[in-house]
Amino acid sequence: MLWSRIEVEQAVVWREGAAASMHLRMLTGDWVLVPETPPGRWARLRARLPRVDFAHDLSEDIGTLRWWRGLAVMVALILAALGMLPGHILLDPAPAMRLDAAAQEEFRSQMIAPLATGGDSGRHMGATRLALATSSAPDRARVQMVATLAPGDSLGRLLQRAGALSGDAARASELVAGAVPLSDIAGGTRLDIVLGARAGEGRALERLALRPRFDLDLLLSRKAGALGLETHALAVDQTPLRIRGLAGPSLYRSARAAGAPVRALQQYLQALDAHISLDEIQPTDSFDLILTYRRSAGGSVEAGDLLYAGLERGGEPRARLMRCGSAGQFYDASGMNEQRATSSLMMPVASARVTSGFGMRFHPILGYSRLHAGIDLGAPYGSPIYAVADGTVAWAAPHGGHGNYVRLEHGNGFATGYGHMSRFAVSPGMMVHAGQVIGYVGSTGLSTGPHLHYEVYEGGRPVDPMSVHFTVRSGVSSGEMVAFKAKLAKLLLVRPGAALGRIGGGSDLAPLR
Ligand SMILES: [Zn+2]
Repeated sequence: MLWSRIEVEQAVVWREGAAASMHLRMLTGDWVLVPETPPGRWARLRARLPRVDFAHDLSEDIGTLRWWRGLAVMVALILAALGMLPGHILLDPAPAMRLDAAAQEEFRSQMIAPLATGGDSGRHMGATRLALATSSAPDRARVQMVATLAPGDSLGRLLQRAGALSGDAARASELVAGAVPLSDIAGGTRLDIVLGARAGEGRALERLALRPRFDLDLLLSRKAGALGLETHALAVDQTPLRIRGLAGPSLYRSARAAGAPVRALQQYLQALDAHISLDEIQPTDSFDLILTYRRSAGGSVEAGDLLYAGLERGGEPRARLMRCGSAGQFYDASGMNEQRATSSLMMPVASARVTSGFGMRFHPILGYSRLHAGIDLGAPYGSPIYAVADGTVAWAAPHGGHGNYVRLEHGNGFATGYGHMSRFAVSPGMMVHAGQVIGYVGSTGLSTGPHLHYEVYEGGRPVDPMSVHFTVRSGVSSGEMVAFKAKLAKLLLVRPGAALGRIGGGSDLAPLR
């Protein structure tokens, strides 16, 4: 910038002192005389023009002539820019079709508009000689309707809303209350209502039919001017519902397709999961569910809790689980033994094989030898892990290289540890019984594949689990076992589909629970 200003000033000097042929320029910081070629015609013309500063910096020399000139230039430029803005042309919208009033009315009459929003669509026919105006609309002599009792609603209010006389509604409530407490009538109960001719502010109640209870039908009807109540007890069939079928690609879907209710099926899968690994169910296995089922002669059906959960493979039972005890837990019939105290080597997983024993060994992941403080039991991923003896859960959380780890205290200085679990079935502080599922086999922590790392501690020191025999009380009392077996045998007599036959015609295996 500085350079160009000097050049301009020198040009002015040159014009005034026309004799000078040398040009003073600043080069590399020093003033030097440079021989100058005479400027051309355009340069001379330009030098003669007054040097006017049109683009003045408006923050400097405010109020001077230069400043006002700069401001005027700026305003002029803005106005010029605004003047070049494109304008808008308003187009006249043309309709797609030109319709006269009659054609528009024709179209409108064919529109469908909700009546609720005041639609008056449809062609309105003018009155002809065949249509006669009446002075009043005729009233129906009889109104029949079906109403559903909403939760929290009362029978009397419902009848009044339906149009019954308040006196009749009160009398009907009174009569129904005599047969069944009104508060016991569940929401969703259907009422068949017949109302008679209009009388004052409502209609007389002619007939009312409802099923307030699974096994009871009520019928109110008007006889000789007064409402009377008839009760009909319905025959109830309690044959349990048995559903069997092939597991197929998805046991859940197959059982649902076979008609198993969701709740019973969930209980089935939960019960099964506690005894076998659900991952090992094969498409050729067959499931066997028995659940409580009640039907009334009126056609009402109630599906209840699961009674029996079975799984068969190749005709052989893989699991036969039935509820036992007050807690309603499922027990496997094959694992049901008469109670006795045995001292035996207890294994925490079924059909376990020891893949790595107790003692010094070269650790496959850490890469050096150290004490293997337990034994490794090979088992498929997800297999249930059972407590080897009664005890208390002292730890059930991740624990370093152990991964998901459960530690049980069994008293007398004995403790057991279970490592690399995929998931827990207990939480710290819980009491567990021998044989109870505490978790599932996995490969968490320092592990190369699914297995159970099982430890036994005596007085705080690890000992070889293969050397410790736990004294366990297994099985149930002989009385309980006899009852369990008898109940199971009776339950297994239920034929699949027996609960769907004629009421009172099937085998009567009634109240099992
Ligand atoms: Zn191990």
